[in-house]
Amino acid sequence: MKTLYVISERDPRETRVALIPADAEKLSKAGWHVNVESGAGVKSGFSDADYQSVGATVVGSAFASEADFIVSVRKPSEAEVSKYKKGSFHLSLLDPFNEKALIKAFADAEVTAASFEMIPRSSIAQKMDVLSSQSNLAGYCGVIRAASVINRILPMMMTPAGTISPLKFFIVGVGVAGLQAIATAKRLGARVEAFDTRPVVEEQVRSLGAKFVKIDIGETGQTAQGYAKALTPEQIEMQRKGMAKVCAQSDVIITTAKLFGRKAPRIISGEMVAAMKPGSVIVDMAVESGGNVEGSKPDETVITPNGVMIIGDTCLEARVPATASQMYSANVRNFIEHFTRDGEFKVDMEDPIMKSAVVAYGGKITDERFM
Ligand code: NAD
Repeated sequence: MKTLYVISERDPRETRVALIPADAEKLSKAGWHVNVESGAGVKSGFSDADYQSVGATVVGSAFASEADFIVSVRKPSEAEVSKYKKGSFHLSLLDPFNEKALIKAFADAEVTAASFEMIPRSSIAQKMDVLSSQSNLAGYCGVIRAASVINRILPMMMTPAGTISPLKFFIVGVGVAGLQAIATAKRLGARVEAFDTRPVVEEQVRSLGAKFVKIDIGETGQTAQGYAKALTPEQIEMQRKGMAKVCAQSDVIITTAKLFGRKAPRIISGEMVAAMKPGSVIVDMAVESGGNVEGSKPDETVITPNGVMIIGDTCLEARVPATASQMYSANVRNFIEHFTRDGEFKVDMEDPIMKSAVVAYGGKITDERFM
């Protein structure tokens, strides 16, 4: 029987747990000996007793050195990795583009490291796609966050005391998070406009009942994985000019524009923020990877001199930890089940999903971008 170990997240801001009791039970039934670090599920609403009641064992942090498969939401430290058992397997959001020393630590310890960010965005891999499951929730939370701080209501209301106009939302970047932000803002009654550099998105925006803002910035494109290509400085300037009027008229702007493995584009300048109305709200969902908005700060809320609130929450999905953990945990279980053959979890480096996800294997870093 293989041992699985679920880490209690070390970052005090993290509220999620990598495996919830329902999935612990399924994996136990499939032959895993599931061990959960004490307190791992508390912030997402699962007690140690909940795990014990489905057959999992509650252990301390020292168990990491005994486990065959270690799972967490956030990356472990290099010191922790050095204690992992040789030949064991670790799965989490490893942030490999920014964590080369950590990936080396995995190789040095001869621990196989799989990074959720590197799972291909293909149909077959969707069930284990953490970027999608968590971005989807982040998009929802971004809208709720803005709605909870803005000084007006979102929907149109016709009342004897007068007619209230709907708020105007502008969503910049329409990937998974942006689409959910559009859908959520629409459900709450806002009027929504959106923009993305990938032209394929226009139809998706329209199908959600929002307006696509057309800006001619010349040749744009996407990678084979569907990620946006970086714009030239001239194109960014054209984009800024094209967006300036919509930004100035918007009550809420939510930016989600990211470039896979690279710094996020700085799209909204200080000048554009200064042209917005007092009381407007911006949520910069790309703040952790450099920020789309001038003046946004990670995990801070900034009020500009002209009264615009810029929210820089880095992990919006952590605001709904029970749902976020449920989805993350399903992604983890699907990953394990997908690579279980004849009752055994196998590191199949011939499989395109495994090959892409694994960044350290057999004592070596397997992706030269992280060397
Ligand atoms: P992401 O988080 O990397 O980026 C968010 C959005 O920002 C993207 O739509 C991108 O085009 C956009 N963007 C980048 N630069 C911009 C700029 N200057 N201005 C405006 N927008 C800009 O994207 P994501 O949500 O991770 O999605 C990446 C791709 O993966 C998409 O093509 C998506 O459809 C695809 N996807 C596929 C599957 C699947 O088939 N399994 C699942 C999820 C996502």
